Amino acid sequence: MTTSFSRRLCLAAFAASVGLLSHTVGYAQNQTDSTQIPQISSVSISQNLLTEIKQHNQLMLNLEEMCDGIGPRLTGSPQLRQAQQWAMAKLKSYGAVNVHEEAYDLGKAWTRGVARVRLLNANGMVLDVQQQAWSESSPHKMFAEVIVMNVKTLDEFKQIAPRLRGKIVLAISTPKATPEQEKNFKQYSDELNKAIQEANFSAIFFVSGREGNLQDMHGSPSARYKRNAAIITKEHANLLQRLIARGITPKIEFEFGGRLSKDTVKAYNVVADFPGTELADEMVVLGAHQDSWDLGTGATDNGVGAVVTMEVLRAMHALNLKPKRTLRVVLFSGEEQGLLGSKAYLKAHVAEQAKIQAMLTQDAGGGRITGFLDMKVDEWFTALNEAKEQTKELNSLDITYAAGGGSDHQAFFEQGIPAFAPIQDTLDYRSHTWHSQVDTVDHVAKENLVQNAQVMAVMTWAMLNGKKLPHQAPQVLR
Ligand SMILES: [Zn+2]
Repeated sequence: MTTSFSRRLCLAAFAASVGLLSHTVGYAQNQTDSTQIPQISSVSISQNLLTEIKQHNQLMLNLEEMCDGIGPRLTGSPQLRQAQQWAMAKLKSYGAVNVHEEAYDLGKAWTRGVARVRLLNANGMVLDVQQQAWSESSPHKMFAEVIVMNVKTLDEFKQIAPRLRGKIVLAISTPKATPEQEKNFKQYSDELNKAIQEANFSAIFFVSGREGNLQDMHGSPSARYKRNAAIITKEHANLLQRLIARGITPKIEFEFGGRLSKDTVKAYNVVADFPGTELADEMVVLGAHQDSWDLGTGATDNGVGAVVTMEVLRAMHALNLKPKRTLRVVLFSGEEQGLLGSKAYLKAHVAEQAKIQAMLTQDAGGGRITGFLDMKVDEWFTALNEAKEQTKELNSLDITYAAGGGSDHQAFFEQGIPAFAPIQDTLDYRSHTWHSQVDTVDHVAKENLVQNAQVMAVMTWAMLNGKKLPHQAPQVLR
């Protein structure tokens, strides 16, 4: 998440809005004389949600079923389809209605194959390299020498391009558009793509951003580097650079077997509703991407967000709550390839966008939620503050004056919709599990997951029943 944190003093009055406090739930209404109906305040409902989730949650069970049972969920893969069927069955069993999938065009699907990379000189080690998703592979074993690329601009790239032909390019840094080129990005992009094509290198190795021999998978159907693109661990990239610094050119044998599908395919989002009452045509979208990278099992990115989302619906149904607005759960796909699922959802639901009260998503690992970004909108800041005041457990949450993207809420925010993602304790997410092979269930602590679901449930409940939040004009989040 790209976040510029700057704090501001919270001067807002914390008294919960009248709308929130006076809301009455249906399950208490079995008396005939309405004056006898005990007013169940939003505060008590929030407390009930905390208790229900603490006592009866299915969070770890669902995380294990999805990650250990089904496994990684690359967009376009059969495993993601299986996980979506699984989630739909669960959501139905939790009382959701209108449970269905919505298709969009992904482009070609991609399937991982072998990745064998070996140094032929120096210490002759097998190198920790994985093929980048959505890159095509050569159909046979290849041999090439390594050359380091450390360029900042398109011009610098063009200068070294003739030396890259037939080589394995160890990409320490790749060309970035200057502010001037940003203004005409299409032209820059076309020029760069042409230069890459002409350079005609044998393979390109990007250096992993993770520590400790861990991988850092990425790639998408629109990836710029099309053939034999791969990710090498920091440690083995360092080895290659040390050899070059001592005048030894690394010679490498490599073979990649990942492949694109012959035809283009559809990808899907899962949609499920928990209906509202007096404002049923308005909705709060509680979304999380269910897709993951494929080296681990996508437990922290974003199995956690997916099972929390499902748990919020389960708990609200179990308590027989009657929200004013409709809760719409969306399990997105294609997030890892550039928010493809949330963008497709918004496009398919243009007519409903004005009716979206708010969108919430959780996608920053398995750490405790410590606060929310207000996206720098005063009314949203006030609403978040009022929402967290519902329970003492949430009082310490920090509502921060900042805007951040990097997950599906960004696509909603850019349409002007109030869209929020929590700030979470980082734990080992950024350094280890994020997109790596150790993104597994053993990096998720049950007590954190329970806290995540409790916070998301209370915040969602407040948005379902609170004052109408203003939308903004569409804008690009920088
Ligand atoms: Zn994610």
